[in-house]
Amino acid sequence: MPLSPEAEAEIAALRSETKPTLRAVSEGMEAHLHHAIPVLDHGFVRVVDYMGDDSAICQAARVSYGRGTKSVQNDEGLIRYLMRHWHSTPFEMCEVKLHVKLPVFVARQWIRHRTANVNEYSARYSILDREFYIPAPDSLAAQSAVNNQGRGEALAGEEAERVLSWLRDDAMRAYDHYEAMISRDGQQGLARELARMNLPASIYTQWYWKVDLHNLLHFLRLRADAHAQYEIRVYADAICNVVKDWVPFAYRAFEDYRLGAVTMSSQMMDCLRRMLAGEAVTEDNCGMSKREWREFRESLGQA
Ligand SMILES: Cc1cc2nc3c(=O)[nH]c(=O)nc-3n(C[C@H](O)[C@H](O)[C@H](O)COP(=O)(O)OP(=O)(O)OC[C@H]3O[C@@H](n4cnc5c(N)ncnc54)[C@H](O)[C@@H]3O)c2cc1C
Repeated sequence: MPLSPEAEAEIAALRSETKPTLRAVSEGMEAHLHHAIPVLDHGFVRVVDYMGDDSAICQAARVSYGRGTKSVQNDEGLIRYLMRHWHSTPFEMCEVKLHVKLPVFVARQWIRHRTANVNEYSARYSILDREFYIPAPDSLAAQSAVNNQGRGEALAGEEAERVLSWLRDDAMRAYDHYEAMISRDGQQGLARELARMNLPASIYTQWYWKVDLHNLLHFLRLRADAHAQYEIRVYADAICNVVKDWVPFAYRAFEDYRLGAVTMSSQMMDCLRRMLAGEAVTEDNCGMSKREWREFRESLGQA
């Protein structure tokens, strides 16, 4: 259950209040505002606030007084040009504030993105909930044999059951001791800031995360990628769906020029030219490392 009934009621109350505004409004984003999108077993992503829309990007690029819009096609063309040529500052004019509930081990990866503003739930002040991420059976994968930073086939049978019960039992036992340590019961009770150190990294935390669109797209480029860990990728995927509705032109350009694009080194470009000229280019004569050759072939869909 990502949200308690009380939290659901607070969100319903927020969504029932509307005010007229002179600010730019994105209809797609208004539909998301305040709603919690479930992610993993107890997590969510919720848009708390936002600033700007596609036309705000164009307005900044043109430094105009009004909406600055010549036509919708012009706006999309301009956004695509900006994205293609890494003219990034107009994208920084849009911002979003998210409320995210996520396991601590996912938060450790997420927090590496330094170009955002974060305020996290205080486990010095408050008591953490008894909520731990327990992978769904099909996400319970073995260590990858080819990638040290990845996973392979899903575990099955007795091994899967044993791992799941360890994950559950260890988390519950740690939480029982956490509760026992902080409970007063006539005694002083250990400080929350100390008792929490006993909890596993699968426990959920929450934060408000505010970021501009340029840096958000950078985050999504890295974390919605197939190489990112599944547990952070599902958050990135949920945010991609929000961004698609918030700034549809910018998102389409992002899909075309970032998500679906590949970067080629000068050696790769050289190989590509030789291949187009009809030469048989192989791993032995490509002038690249084995790994780079594999990546090159993958980017050509030849892996
Ligand atoms: C698949 C994957 C595997 C990873 N594995 C590891 C790992 O094994 N170990 C590990 O430690 N990390 C790992 N990381 C984290 C990674 O190294 C980055 O820290 C993380 O992705 C944040 O990227 P960033 O610095 O570009 O983002 P942000 O912090 O959002 O920064 C955005 C951009 O701003 C600029 N910038 C921000 N701060 C500074 C600064 N202080 N100085 C100069 N420029 C700055 C840089 O251009 C940067 O690219 C991994 C990330 C991914 C996606």
